Order: sequence, then C-alpha cells, then structure tokens
Amino acid sequence: MVTPDASGPAVARQSDEQVEESLYAKQEKIYPREVHGLFARLRVLGVLGLLGIYYITPWLRWDGHQALLLDLPARKFHIFSLTLWPQDFIYLAFLLIIAGLTLFFVTALAGRIWCGYACPQTVWTEAFMWIERKVEGDRMRQKKLDAMPMNVRKFRIKATKHLLWIAFAGWTGFTFVGYFTPIIDLGQRLTAFNLGPWETFWVIFYGFATYGNAGFMREQVCKYMCPYARFQSAMFDKDTLIISYIDERGEPRGSRKRSADPAALGLGDCIDCTMCVQVCPTGIDIRNGLQYECIACSACIDACDDVMEKMGYEKGLIKYTTEQAMHGGKTHIVRPRIVIYALILLTIMSVFTYTFSQRTSLGLDVIRDRNRLFRETDEGLIENVYILKILNMDDRGHAYRLSVEGLHELELYTDTNRIWVGAGEVLELPVRLRVEEDDLQERSNKVIFSLVATDDPELKTREEARFLGPR
Ligand code: SF4
Ligand code: SF4
Repeated sequence: MVTPDASGPAVARQSDEQVEESLYAKQEKIYPREVHGLFARLRVLGVLGLLGIYYITPWLRWDGHQALLLDLPARKFHIFSLTLWPQDFIYLAFLLIIAGLTLFFVTALAGRIWCGYACPQTVWTEAFMWIERKVEGDRMRQKKLDAMPMNVRKFRIKATKHLLWIAFAGWTGFTFVGYFTPIIDLGQRLTAFNLGPWETFWVIFYGFATYGNAGFMREQVCKYMCPYARFQSAMFDKDTLIISYIDERGEPRGSRKRSADPAALGLGDCIDCTMCVQVCPTGIDIRNGLQYECIACSACIDACDDVMEKMGYEKGLIKYTTEQAMHGGKTHIVRPRIVIYALILLTIMSVFTYTFSQRTSLGLDVIRDRNRLFRETDEGLIENVYILKILNMDDRGHAYRLSVEGLHELELYTDTNRIWVGAGEVLELPVRLRVEEDDLQERSNKVIFSLVATDDPELKTREEARFLGPR
C-alpha cells in the first residue's frame, strides 16, 4: 500500500504478512523398509556375485602375472593370456560400443533391469544399507535414532556405522587402484605407508566417492545425476517390460479387515497399507503410475505380494508387465525396434570377432629413409634404405626371420644377423635393399617385407613398401 509520508515522498510500506517462499525443497531422507521375497533374493544374489567379481578379480594370477591388470604407465593391458597394447585400443572401443548397444537392447526388451540389479550405484547402496541395518536396526529404529538428540549411545552407533562404511569404501578404493597397479605390491606398500601420490589420490578419491554415493546420495544419484535415467525412456515402447500397479484391480483402495469381502465394501484389492511405498529406495508411490524415478528394483512387488498373501488375495497387484498387456493387448517380444537393435549389435559383434581373430601379436611398420630417394652403390646397384619398427606384443621375447620379395634378385642387408625383440618391446632396425637397375620395372615398385618368429611359424606379419629407382 502506498501512503504519503510526512518526511518526504510517498514510500511503499512492506506488509508484515508478506511470506517468503523458498523455491528449494529440502531433500527428505528415505528409510527404505527391508523386504523379503523372490526378487529380493535375486537382487542379493546379484549383489554378492558382482561384488565378489569386483573384489576377487585383481587377486587372480595368470601365468606369473596379475590376471587382469590395466598397466597404464607401461601402456599395456593384461587380460588373462591376452596382452593389449595401445595399437589394440580399437578393440576396447569396440567393447565399449558393444556394451552400450547391449544396454540399449536389454532396456528396450526388459526396461531398467540394469538399474535394479546390476548398476554399481544399486549394488553398493544395497551393501551400505545392509551395514546400516546391522548397526542401527530396522527402518523404525533408524528413524527414532535420527530424531533423538545426540547422546553417547547415538554417537557410538553412528560412529560404528561410519567407521564400517569408511573401511568398506576404503577397501573399494584400494581394489579399484589394484586394477591399475599390481595389487600385491600395492598392498605391501599400503601397509608400509609408502604409496605414491597418484595411488594415494585415487584410493581416497574412489573410496570417498563410494562412501558419498552409497552412504548419503543414494537415490539422488539415480534421480539427478545419472544420464541413463534421463534417456532410457527413449528406448521404451508399449511392449517394454515395466513394473506396474494394476489400477483396475487395486482401486478403489482402502483398508479393511482380513475377513471382509472387498466387493461388498466396494473396494479393490489395494488395502492402502503403503508397504510398497515404504520399501521403495527412491521413495515413490508406484500406484501413481510409471515414474522416471523408478529404478525397477521390484522391492514393491515383493512387499505387495507378501501383503496379498496375508490377505488371502491373488499375488501380482504390482507386477512385471507391459503397457500393451495392461490395456488388454498381446505383448510382442519381436518388434522392429528390437530387431534393429539386435541387427546392429550382431553386426558390430561379428566385425569385432573377425577383426580380433585376425589380430597378431606382432607389429611391423616400414618407414622409408627420408634423406634420399635412392642411391647407386659402387657396384652399380640401386639401393633404398628403410627403418623397420618391429613391435613384439607377445608375453615373451622372440627371434624373427626377415625376408623381402617383389623384385627379381632383390638383396636384403641388415646390420645384425639375429633379430631379437623382447616381450612388449619395439626394435628399430635399419635395412637396405639393393637391386640391379635393369630389374626395376618402373620408378616406384612394390616390395613386401615378411617377418616370422623362428620359434612360432604362426607368429608372422607382412608389410608393403615402395622401392624407388631412376626409371
Ligand atoms: S503394498 Fe499393495 S496393498 Fe499395500 S498399498 Fe501397496 S499396492 Fe496397496
Ligand atoms: S517403485 Fe517399486 S520398482 Fe520402482 S524403485 Fe520403487 S520399489 Fe523399486
């Protein structure tokens, strides 16, 4: 309201009743209730299997070395009997593309099954929640504990939980670095407090990320940070498997006695017990329809099935279904989208398999001497000089036999009688080729260098080069 003021111009007086409204809603902590049932058992099996693979793999040995070691300083990846070099990064690119396409394919077919059972965020959050339940108790005890003021008992319980979380997260960070540095050596240096700066950084960083994401952020990672959660709906169609509440059967919802006849009360099968909401790790109510926050963990199916069983109703009020089936249609597994994804995936996998089967552990590069195109020797022969780069990508050293073909009476000279390249090493070998001028057909002639390991005739490669002359 604007009023004239005796002391000067009119001013606007602020009403005491003006209310400030914040646009930021404080994040409510979610206390998911523990759930038992078929899908919970499957998830526990998945979690144990995946965590087992993660923590055990770096300790496996193969032929005297760590079975899986991504040795970045040496620029080589050991994967059991296979050693990949920077030249092989194309295969890693292939694997990443195949993994991405597989995720698209599985999502189109079975929805967010990856999120619910195999995503690292889900797996580590499950493990952290298990520790939390062991230390603080069930959902109600956790709520009570958080609501009470700090005292000795609360401090002891919270400290125990956080110490266990930190130890677990630290072990996770250590294991992560163990994929990049030999883990036995890493363990010895860790116990001697002798880790390098980068190793220390990554153990702490990865451990801290695990502690933060699985201990505190939890469902917020899925809701606000995960890009996959945002675009996965683009892969959904009416035939994609989803978890859904069956409205027609459940509504109108309402509480009733176990012995009551829902039809007589005009009620559906949902007794409005909110168990499906209490077990939901993202805190949503599946009865409001499909929501992007739903990570398809199926906890609500187990919870509701349990309620249905207790009430003597048929299970499946919340279940895996498709939009098509919910509207009385027939679900189609084979459909254009699935066929296209499958064809692309199969094509890329075939190309990968073929390319990989042609891979050899021997690389050969031929580089011409840039100083001179050719020279004439005292004997009147035409000479070309090359540098051969021989890359031995095998786990052991080899001696090689070098030969060349392409021109009549072509002579090959090297400064050494024995070509030996150690495991993972590159040898630069100067070679000279000489030929009679009359044997040159043109100014630029094709020659082919062949290299074969003396102890393994299968280990061989060929490389083309040009021999230049005056013609
Ligand atoms: S658990 Fe089942 S019965 Fe209970 S509120 Fe959820 S949908 Fe209704
Ligand atoms: S709605 Fe059900 S399936 Fe979706 S996240 Fe919640 S509990 Fe899991």
